[in-house]
Amino acid sequence: MTSVVPGRAARVVQGVGALVADLEITRAWLVDPGAGREGPGEIVVTNGVLEAVTWLEGAEATGVDATGIVVAPGFLDLHAHFREPGNEDAETVATGLAAAARGGFTAVCVMPNTTPALDEPSVLARILAAAATSGSPVTLLAHGAVTAGRSGEGLAALGELADAGVVGFSDDGAPVRSAALLRNALAYAGMLGLPIVDHPEDPTLTGGAEANEGLIATVLGLRGWPGAAEVSAVARDIAILAEVLADVPGARLHLTHLSTAASLDLVRRAKSADLPVTCDVTPHHLALSDEWLAGARRWAWEALADDGAARDPWRDGAITAPPFDPSLRVNPPLRSASDAAACLVALGDGTADAIATDHAPHTEVDKAVEFGLAANGISGIETALGVVLAAVDAGRLSLATGIAALTTGPARVLGDRAPGGGSAVRGLIEGQPANLVVFDRSATWRVSAEAIASKGKNSPLLGRDLPGRVLLTVAGGRIAYEAPE
Ligand SMILES: [Zn+2]
Repeated sequence: MTSVVPGRAARVVQGVGALVADLEITRAWLVDPGAGREGPGEIVVTNGVLEAVTWLEGAEATGVDATGIVVAPGFLDLHAHFREPGNEDAETVATGLAAAARGGFTAVCVMPNTTPALDEPSVLARILAAAATSGSPVTLLAHGAVTAGRSGEGLAALGELADAGVVGFSDDGAPVRSAALLRNALAYAGMLGLPIVDHPEDPTLTGGAEANEGLIATVLGLRGWPGAAEVSAVARDIAILAEVLADVPGARLHLTHLSTAASLDLVRRAKSADLPVTCDVTPHHLALSDEWLAGARRWAWEALADDGAARDPWRDGAITAPPFDPSLRVNPPLRSASDAAACLVALGDGTADAIATDHAPHTEVDKAVEFGLAANGISGIETALGVVLAAVDAGRLSLATGIAALTTGPARVLGDRAPGGGSAVRGLIEGQPANLVVFDRSATWRVSAEAIASKGKNSPLLGRDLPGRVLLTVAGGRIAYEAPE
């Protein structure tokens, strides 16, 4: 079929997995982080291949800006939990991939904290089989466990996992607690050409912790979760990496879901010393802050006064919801508004390489309990784009930087194991299978249990309108998601 609709994405209407036979999107705003370019343009997809990318100039470009239909490369998520095998009530590979596509993602790296843990090739094979059965064209990638059973006691079979195709190693959900094991893991993974993806947390500082240590936790009577638990782990990891490099030049460290200004500063310094360290921040840590636990519902950048000081939500009328919403319980916890601002600065100056969702779906049973007993995690793969665009709309992030952090940034972290391989991936590249997201910045959508495809309805954004409705996601030339009429 031919679909040509000036100025907006055409409806393709063929169902998930169908080849995009013929699609033309005219007079849209193209964002190509691979080429470092954005502007008015048109694309043509024929038989699943991105056949033409045309940049419009002069009179042809008149009236096309970044506030309407946007076409970008499909997003790559470095960090998601699909809960299969072991907790299919919370999410399955199939529902996770559907949620990813709904959020504009065409490739997702799942974390190995399943039951059993992804610590040997047979578990990876099982997950990849589930992805194939789902019919989704979204690429599923996986991190293997660092330690056998994620027990923290002995290394998993890293070589076998690498041969089987994992893209990195992580004990996410938990840090690699033993410094000695981390050193061995960095060395061994480095020889295999893969990164260690650490969840930086010193658990001796976080036992029983509930909320970011500070005024909000104190007023609410929640046990404090100090920023130092993260900062000290980041410092340790970087120090170990620096020494391992002497013997294993290929060693690489990726720090996931950094949430404090101080840990981002450590990464900034390590990068300026040319250490091979990368990091990501999550949408919730850059846009929400701990005052949400008290019932505030403004974006983090709205919680800072002009002089950078945090505003008092009880004094300025920001409290609009009941306190202790368990959907806000997350590890690491929502931090201060200035920490959130630091996440945005880190994206802008290249300290943070990627925005990763840490999509963590949970069943209602695991979340509808008192705050301190709720499972950690936010179902966030479908709201990531909207949250990022809210930051763009507020002038806190450029659209180009936000899109790069969802595409080329994470692809660089994965190196040759990024989908497509090499460093030129995640651009709008003619002649390659189409990997695209098309969204409408002029349209908002309301986050609701019904609107999201994930089984995990544990989003603190339920009921909120987010900018940037995803109209179409194309992965590998096939339909991954198409918005209903
Ligand atoms: Zn984690």
